[in-house]
Amino acid sequence: MKCSRCKATACVSLPSHHSGFCPDCFKLFFTRQVETAVRREKMFTRDERILVALSGGKDSLALMLELSSQGYDVTGLHIDLGIPDSSEKARAKVEAFCASRGLRLEVFEMAKWGLPIPDVKRFSTRPVCAVCGKLKRHHFNRIALAGGYDALATGHNLDDEVARLFANTLRWDVGYLSDQGPALPAREGFVRKVKPLFRLSEFETANYAFLQGIEIHSDPCPYASGASFTGHKELWGELEHRSPGQKFQFYQGFLQRGRRAFAALDKAEGDVLAPCTACGSPTNAGVCSICRIRESIREKKLEAGEA
Ligand code: SF4
Ligand SMILES: [Zn+2]
Ligand SMILES: [Zn+2]
Repeated sequence: MKCSRCKATACVSLPSHHSGFCPDCFKLFFTRQVETAVRREKMFTRDERILVALSGGKDSLALMLELSSQGYDVTGLHIDLGIPDSSEKARAKVEAFCASRGLRLEVFEMAKWGLPIPDVKRFSTRPVCAVCGKLKRHHFNRIALAGGYDALATGHNLDDEVARLFANTLRWDVGYLSDQGPALPAREGFVRKVKPLFRLSEFETANYAFLQGIEIHSDPCPYASGASFTGHKELWGELEHRSPGQKFQFYQGFLQRGRRAFAALDKAEGDVLAPCTACGSPTNAGVCSICRIRESIREKKLEAGEA
């Protein structure tokens, strides 16, 4: 196969774009997709400071590299979850990546904050991933606000977004459907959140990371149940195979036509938020769920004689 742009030998075939690219032209394709995402969704400007959530996986590191190479003012944020044998490897990959490319990095340690994820797994009655996800989102938002960043960028790709949208649609979850999208504006207590890779598939970000020589952390988390969206991603892989471009059309259609309708519904049902009386994060419950989780695990540890 020949590169659709320069006619050299193609190394990546992209049926959904009716194209194939050589390494240089693929990089250009990737850059253009990110530029389009940032421009059309008005994600941020070159004068703004962007905090990039870095897990150590291909998407977040690809995002960091691409935004920095486009000249944006980026700082990485890694949350060390404190999971034995896993978190140190992820953190080492992130630290080596940022050091080798001269990129700024902040690391937040859950253990120092008093709640490493293994404690959540042992003492919480809720599924560990639900709590872990909540904690990560809380700290990303809190650290971005405290640091005066203009936006928090995450490496969610098109497959992530489609799988999430599909799951929310199956449940007709109005709250999540009204809130899903590649750019959520800032509001009281919440930093602006953006997903500059939303036009790119997992296959495309994996190729980018590989071609750019990024060393990624690819071991699955030992606590991963395997259930989260994996089945939906497989279903969508099948649909995309039969009809290339379906994923993007589904997501784009939602952004153009569906989201507004759900936002109107959600507004009618919406909660009034006020600062948490313990930590100041926005909540509709006096003390926020993060503080309540933290306190309940602290009590259970005390009962077990471990605190
Ligand atoms: S798999 Fe679950 S526990 Fe592991 S990092 Fe992801 S959300 Fe956290
Ligand atoms: Zn080419
Ligand atoms: Zn709180």
